[in-house]
Amino acid sequence: MDVILVINSGSSSLKFALYSVEANANDALLTGVVSGIGVNPELKAKMNGEVLNNQEPFKSIPNDANHEWLIKELLNRLHTKYAQFKPIAVGHRMVHGGIHFTEPTLITDKSLQQLKALIPLAPLHQPHSIVAIEAMAKHEPDLLQIACFDTSFHRTQSKIEQMFAIPKALTDEGIIRYGFHGLSYEYIASVLPTYLGDKADGRVLVAHLGNGTSMCAMVNRKSVSSTMGFSTLEGLVMGTRCGLLDAGVILHLIKQKGMNVDEVSKMLYKESGLLGISGISSDMRDLENSDHPDAKQAINMFCHRAKEEIGNLTAVMNGLDAIIFTAGIGENSVMVREKICDPLAWLGVKIDDDRNATGKGKISADESKVKVFVIPTDEEATIANATRSFL
Ligand code: AMP
Repeated sequence: MDVILVINSGSSSLKFALYSVEANANDALLTGVVSGIGVNPELKAKMNGEVLNNQEPFKSIPNDANHEWLIKELLNRLHTKYAQFKPIAVGHRMVHGGIHFTEPTLITDKSLQQLKALIPLAPLHQPHSIVAIEAMAKHEPDLLQIACFDTSFHRTQSKIEQMFAIPKALTDEGIIRYGFHGLSYEYIASVLPTYLGDKADGRVLVAHLGNGTSMCAMVNRKSVSSTMGFSTLEGLVMGTRCGLLDAGVILHLIKQKGMNVDEVSKMLYKESGLLGISGISSDMRDLENSDHPDAKQAINMFCHRAKEEIGNLTAVMNGLDAIIFTAGIGENSVMVREKICDPLAWLGVKIDDDRNATGKGKISADESKVKVFVIPTDEEATIANATRSFL
C-alpha cells in the first residue's frame, strides 16, 4: 500500500506517522514518537490503536541515536517489518518558512538551500528538520519530499500586523512578526465548519495551549493576528518560555548583570514560563496537582495573560464569535479553560460546567453569545494533506 510518511523533527524528539495516499484519509495508519533524543531516547508507537512500544521492532534505541540515525533506522524498520506500507512521499514539519514560503514546498536542491538560509531565524528548530530531509534524501533519494511551514498560515495578516516599530531597513530585512503553530491553526480552520457551521467564517479565536502556547485570530478562517512574533518566545506564558517581555529586560540582563547571549537565550527559552514562575515544573498537570502557592501563581499568570491576549485579538477582529481551545492544555485542562473563560462574561462568554468537564466539542452554555469549543488539533494530518496534493 502506498503511504505518505510525515516527519516532525524537534530538538529532542522525532514524531512520525503514516497515512494512506487516498484523499481524505485523515486517520494515521501508524504513529510514533522518539522522545529524549541525546539523553535517554524512548520510542512509543501505535497502530490501529494498539500500543507497539514493547514489541519488535519498536524496542531498543541506543542512547547516542541522533536524528540521522533515527531516520535511517525508521526507513529500515519500515522496509523489513512493515513492508505492507510503501512510502512514496515524505511531508516534513518545518518551523520557519521566512517571508517567501507561503505554502507547502517541494524540496529541491534550490529550496533546501533557501531553507538552510532560514536557520538563523529558528536556530533551535530548523536544523533538525534539515537533518531529517538530508537523511531521507541520502537513504531514499527517490522519495518526494515536501516542507510544510508553521509560519505560512499567518502570511495573510496585514502588513502592519506583521511589523515591529523598528527602523524600516530591519523590517525590510525580514525582522517581522511571523507567527507560529500555523499547521495546527490550519487543521483547526479546516474542521471549523463541522463545529460552527456558518459561523466558521466569522471571528474565531483559536487558543493553541500546549507546551508552546499561542493564539490566532481568524476571520474567514484566515489568520489576521497571532500572539507569537519573530520567534517562538513572544506572547503567552509557555512551559519554559517567557512570552511577553519588555525588550529592556534583555538589555538590563546583558548590560547590568553581565549575562552573555547564550545565558540569556537559555533563560528565556528553557528556564522561564510556568517553570520559571513556579520553580516546580513546566508541566501543567504537575502545577494543577500542587498545593504550593507558586504553582497556583504560575497557573493564574498563564490564564491572566491568555485573558489579556483574548482582549487584544478581539479588538483586532472587531468582536468575537467563537473561542476554540486546542493542544495539550487546551484540550485537557478543565481548570485552565474555566479560569480563562469565567472572567470573559462581559464579552458574552459563558461556559457550561458539565460540558467543560467532559471537554469534548461545544463547552459553552446554550445562551452564551460567544461559542466555545474544544477541538483536538492534528498537525500531522495537515502535513499529510499538503503532501498528498503533490502526488
Ligand atoms: P502539548 O505540547 O500540546 O503536548 O501539551 C503539553 C502540555 O499539556 C503540558 O503542559 C501538559 O501538562 C498539558 N496537559 C496534558 N494533559 C493534561 C491534563 N490532563 N491536564 C492538564 N494539562 C495537561
